[in-house]
Amino acid sequence: MILMIDGHSFHYEMENLCRIFFPYQKIEVLHGAENTVEDGLVAYTGLAKKQDGVLLTARFHGNSFSEEKTELLTGQTAESEDEQERHMAILLFELLTRYCGYTPKWGILTGVRPVKLLRQLKTKLGEQKAFEQFQTNYLVSKEKAELSRVTMHNEEPILALSRPESFSLYVSIPFCPSRCSYCSFVSSSLEQTAKLIPQYLPLLCEEIRRTGEIASELGLRLESVYVGGGTPTTLSAEQLALLLRTIRENFTLSTIREFTVEAGRPDTITAEKLDALKDGGITRISINPQTLNDDVLKIIGRRHTTAQTLSAFSLAREKGFHNINMDLIAGLPGDTVPGFQNTLDHVVALAPESITVHTLALKRSARMMQEENEPFGSDALAAGEMLDYADAVLAENGYRLYYLYRQSRMVGNLENTGWAKPGAESPYNVYIMDETQTILACGAGASSKIKGPRADQLERIFNFKYPFEYVSRFQEILDRKDQVKSIYERFQQIPKTE
Ligand code: SF4
Repeated sequence: MILMIDGHSFHYEMENLCRIFFPYQKIEVLHGAENTVEDGLVAYTGLAKKQDGVLLTARFHGNSFSEEKTELLTGQTAESEDEQERHMAILLFELLTRYCGYTPKWGILTGVRPVKLLRQLKTKLGEQKAFEQFQTNYLVSKEKAELSRVTMHNEEPILALSRPESFSLYVSIPFCPSRCSYCSFVSSSLEQTAKLIPQYLPLLCEEIRRTGEIASELGLRLESVYVGGGTPTTLSAEQLALLLRTIRENFTLSTIREFTVEAGRPDTITAEKLDALKDGGITRISINPQTLNDDVLKIIGRRHTTAQTLSAFSLAREKGFHNINMDLIAGLPGDTVPGFQNTLDHVVALAPESITVHTLALKRSARMMQEENEPFGSDALAAGEMLDYADAVLAENGYRLYYLYRQSRMVGNLENTGWAKPGAESPYNVYIMDETQTILACGAGASSKIKGPRADQLERIFNFKYPFEYVSRFQEILDRKDQVKSIYERFQQIPKTE
């Protein structure tokens, strides 16, 4: 489709909005004055300054549909770029909703952190007004606004534990035994990159050591450790033991509330690795079935079976893991609403301490996206039904929603939700989503986020994305890590204003 941008700079937001309705279309953005494209799907958004304010115009045509909406903004609204953008988004949203016959439940919100926005509104307006504005200004449905409100309440006690000197540590193991077809993560297939692990691991340990020194020099306090990927249990038991020992030796772990390893793929979990995790002090692991339907697992190229998931889960229980998370995905190709319900019921019967329900998100790079012209599993209504079912069943079974986030190109523009039995929440998930705490991250594909005392003080330091770059340009990683101190020093110089 074509998106025309005329007289304003909101192309990013307008493009994201179009993507909600046409997730699989290539969107071509044309800047400048209105032109005469007439074929296919064409959206036009224009802003023109007038004597009495700012005139916004949105137009959409496709097939036999052709409609235009305009709005004249006056006074302060006309002067605020944020308001111009919001009003423009509403005009376009209304046209696209009419064309598609479908009203996305998150309204014009395209960002990944709706709960954070609600919290910011609450700080300014109080909770009730914030809740109302969430719906009236951003067109969020009552149901999703309520979901956000519940999440906001449940994450508050966890956020309250964070102090100015708090931080969490993230360690990235960007390797997997094979690549799942829907995956957009920068994770190379083990077959191709296994040879890099022996080089990668010692360097990662060195970065962890340097990070530990920096944290200690700055007097930071560690709150949670999260080893993710990829699939960390792609490493052997000995490699896992080395990694965890390095973390233990270089950080003060007496203050932590969570030490998670995302075991992820059930086909990588063995008794030896679970022993290594237990001995290494791991308090929480994730075993991710995604679905308990073997036919769907085959379609998504996950290369493990339901039987492997169940046996990995019971082995982990035998080994004494009492805080296990399981990830599921709604909207998988080949899955159905009853199929998803069956998976969820079965997982709830296993009674893991937490369950994360993702909605399928396809990124441009995902193999299935490249192979399929027609969207698969893109039935937004089915995915919506799956999530509604999950929300109801998880709540009935004593799970509480404690974090929520969204990704671009999610089926139905829905959300990912993290549910836990009270006390089994992962603080790391809350801190990373709310961006209220520094995250020091090590490894390829990881990025550190340094949080200052003021709400808008957040700076990122990016590591190289790919293991090969990480290994071959490692000195640059160490040099970048040293920026952590200078960023903290700079933040200290800025007077606290709130
Ligand atoms: S296990 Fe996860 S990170 Fe690895 S390929 Fe599959 S979806 Fe991607």
